[in-house]
Amino acid sequence: MKSFKTQSKRILDLMINSIYTHKEIFLRELLSNCSDAIDKLYFKGLKEGLSGLTRNDFSIRITADKDARTLTISDNGIGMTADELEHNLGTIAESGSLAFKTENADAKQNDDVNVIGQFGVGFYSAFMVAEKVEVYSKAFGEETANVWSSKGTEGYDIKPCEKEGRGTDIVLYIKKDTDDEKYSDFLEEYKIRSLVKKYSDYIRYPIKMAVTKYKEQSEEDRKEGKERESYKEDEVLNSMIPLWKKNKSEITKEEYNQFYKDNFYDYEDPARYIHTSTEGAVSYKALLFIPSNVPYNYYSKNYEKGLKLYTDGVLITDKCADVLPDCFSFVKGLIDSELTLNISRETIQHDRQLKLIESNLEKKIKSELLDMQKNDRENYDKFFKNFGLQLKYGLYAGWGMNKELLQDLIMFKSVKTGKYVTLKEYVEGLKEEDKNIYYGAGKTESAVKSLPQSEKLLDAGYDILCFSDDVDEFAVKMLGEYEGKQFKNVLSEDAASEEDRKKAEEDKDMLAAIKERLGDKVAKVKVSSVLKSHPVALSSEGEVSLEMEKVMSQMPSGGEGVKANKVLEINGSHPVYEKLKEVYNADKEGINVYADVLYSLARLTAGLEIDDATALADNVLDLLSK
Ligand code: ADP
Repeated sequence: MKSFKTQSKRILDLMINSIYTHKEIFLRELLSNCSDAIDKLYFKGLKEGLSGLTRNDFSIRITADKDARTLTISDNGIGMTADELEHNLGTIAESGSLAFKTENADAKQNDDVNVIGQFGVGFYSAFMVAEKVEVYSKAFGEETANVWSSKGTEGYDIKPCEKEGRGTDIVLYIKKDTDDEKYSDFLEEYKIRSLVKKYSDYIRYPIKMAVTKYKEQSEEDRKEGKERESYKEDEVLNSMIPLWKKNKSEITKEEYNQFYKDNFYDYEDPARYIHTSTEGAVSYKALLFIPSNVPYNYYSKNYEKGLKLYTDGVLITDKCADVLPDCFSFVKGLIDSELTLNISRETIQHDRQLKLIESNLEKKIKSELLDMQKNDRENYDKFFKNFGLQLKYGLYAGWGMNKELLQDLIMFKSVKTGKYVTLKEYVEGLKEEDKNIYYGAGKTESAVKSLPQSEKLLDAGYDILCFSDDVDEFAVKMLGEYEGKQFKNVLSEDAASEEDRKKAEEDKDMLAAIKERLGDKVAKVKVSSVLKSHPVALSSEGEVSLEMEKVMSQMPSGGEGVKANKVLEINGSHPVYEKLKEVYNADKEGINVYADVLYSLARLTAGLEIDDATALADNVLDLLSK
């Protein structure tokens, strides 16, 4: 006997010890494996031009034998060789979804069953209801068949066997009933029928079972109380219509949600679903889902966007990236299209029809999100918290091309309320003559609030948007403006007031002396009216803001050399200003140490590093002891 690999063993343990209500999903798992196996052979047939393999030749069969307590699930799909039995059933493949399942299983040891109930768990789920499992399989094109058998965790055997025809028969030896769990239910026709309806209705191949029927009884026989004569007849249990091909009105929200969870490895209901169909230049049906949580690997390199691509109900590829714009890469789902397809993956990826679909879906997704923003704000806020970063990247990466698509979807936290606001909402709060949408960069709203330049704006009744992600300022640069209002960093240099101009004229020698001391570090030194209680602040003039300089300097490549033109703003109404004049008038050289200190403080309050902290400390101590 061979042993299972460790990981498989753990999953098996989970299966065997799961609670009853979840056990019924074993049938769904096994049937979907059958369907996959048939798909594989069907495609092979198409690709290699094999004759005699039409859709109608394929089927799945369920046979229940109450006396032997066996439930057999058979398919005439591609089958498995001895090596494949070994490889596929002796180990569990390291797929992304599986890694997720096991991670989750680890995290919640006591809640394992939940994981089982929610996810597809594959072949091993058979052990939830069976004490022994045999898999008889003959691979397509092979002469010999093999049987894999196992009673659970201790291990498995593979031996040659007899089997007519290609495909796979899975025989489950159903567990004995216990006080709590009635496994014999799974041998009952009504139970099997209802499980197929519930979980596997849209499997595209007929799932057949010989069901009991009763002959018509004559009036006499009925009166005499004779038992009705029964016979067996094959019946197809599933409707074979995929969910997305059904009428919207016939589908419940629960069915959509369940479909999502079964097919897209999420354990929570989606935030939204979109079921749409289009006829015309390109005809397709699409079923899209917006997850309510961030997929665990979403913001990592190995996340792959894409939709499942079906043609006429048959899966062609699991991840077709071309139909989904990058900014909506979080969307999961499928499209089913009667594309004039060549089934090779390379060719479909560049299909123009797919581009057309992409642009249609883009519009659909946008309008669904706008609807959510308008009518279900709480969930939209949650959505934006999860995926807003992606939308902002989309804006930036599109170099303005995505402006129309994304400008109404993005939001920023308001410094006034701490809540998300859309650009439209911000602009609605402005007066007609106001020209600016103010923003400040900072990790939190309170960080932006405490920027020296924010105070006056807030006092004047303006709101300030909090730009907390590196990409934010770059993204709005791509927008340029919104409804005629310009985006303005609170730290950007502002036009001087009349009063400032007067002071600047009067004290121009002193300001020039400060500028001379600071040299290239600043482009300008000016008297400022934007400050209220702070004596100094840094701002920038020109295209590159201080925040952008910060972000660029952290980029691994380039970015160096991108510097903001810094302006040292000195608050003309602050007592420090008077002190500076006093010092300068007494001793022109004496201004230098003040210039250095003020510049360092301005850098610090703007969130920039200073080169020489010791020098700052020495200078401050020097001033304190005067
Ligand atoms: P998954 O289906 O998620 O890959 P499973 O544990 O359900 O994982 O199955 C493991 C593998 O065993 C499948 O990927 C497939 O290659 C093979 N397999 C399972 N059932 C069948 C079947 N009825 N016919 C052919 N191959 C099968």
